[in-house]
Amino acid sequence: MIDYIKFLGANGARTKDKGSTSIQISKRAVIDAGNLICGLGENMVDIDTIFLTHPHLDHICDIPFLADEVIWKKDKPIKVYGLKDTIDSIKNHIFNNQIWPDFTQIKFPNSDKSVIELIILEIDTTYDMDDFTITPIKTNHTEGSCGYVIKQSNQGIFVTADTYCSDIIWDRLNNDDTIHTLCIDVSFPSQYDKLAKDSKHLTPKLLQAELQKLTREMNIYIMHIKPSFADKIYEEAKEYNVLKGNGTILQDGDIIYFDRLKA
Ligand SMILES: [Zn+2]
Ligand SMILES: [Zn+2]
Repeated sequence: MIDYIKFLGANGARTKDKGSTSIQISKRAVIDAGNLICGLGENMVDIDTIFLTHPHLDHICDIPFLADEVIWKKDKPIKVYGLKDTIDSIKNHIFNNQIWPDFTQIKFPNSDKSVIELIILEIDTTYDMDDFTITPIKTNHTEGSCGYVIKQSNQGIFVTADTYCSDIIWDRLNNDDTIHTLCIDVSFPSQYDKLAKDSKHLTPKLLQAELQKLTREMNIYIMHIKPSFADKIYEEAKEYNVLKGNGTILQDGDIIYFDRLKA
């Protein structure tokens, strides 16, 4: 059992040395699959549970390659979870025998199970997994996008991944004081507020305004920065005072413990 979450990829784009969103939440489970190959190497095949926040390419890009790899090495399906719109997109636009073979139908050579199993989650419903619970919370990004509250021993971390302004996120945080940490999207510098609105992401200035809705203290981390704007976003994170508690701008490889007392 691991007692932390690890950002295999923390960025809002992929470059030679930066990975896009993927967060390991147990030995075999991740939220999003933007950086499994570089983040885990050969251990990628240990992953059999993927919770998707939404179907944008920077969050799902390693799933087809994971399917292609595990078919020779395992005999149990990779379970891919998400809200209905996300699961429909994966089925219709990725595993459709055009972009990639339909691994939801293709079976392992040594078993009657399909390589990929797609499973629809219900919003605001808590699911008990081996060593954590996970609850999808609606975000404001794509149709059917969500973030996740993950808890171990009743200590919670809320990862929104991509989101624009939303009352639901802050209501949740205000009403559940077992959540001690928020990891939230800031993709662009504040001068690009129109781009942020059109693509439904936050800037430091927008996050500062959103933080007015938060009624209690917690750790606020930033995720999903576009690497081309890194210097400016670092500067503005200070200027707008949006990092709180232990919060930082997350980098690939960073970990956050479930136990709020463990730094
Ligand atoms: Zn993204
Ligand atoms: Zn997105």
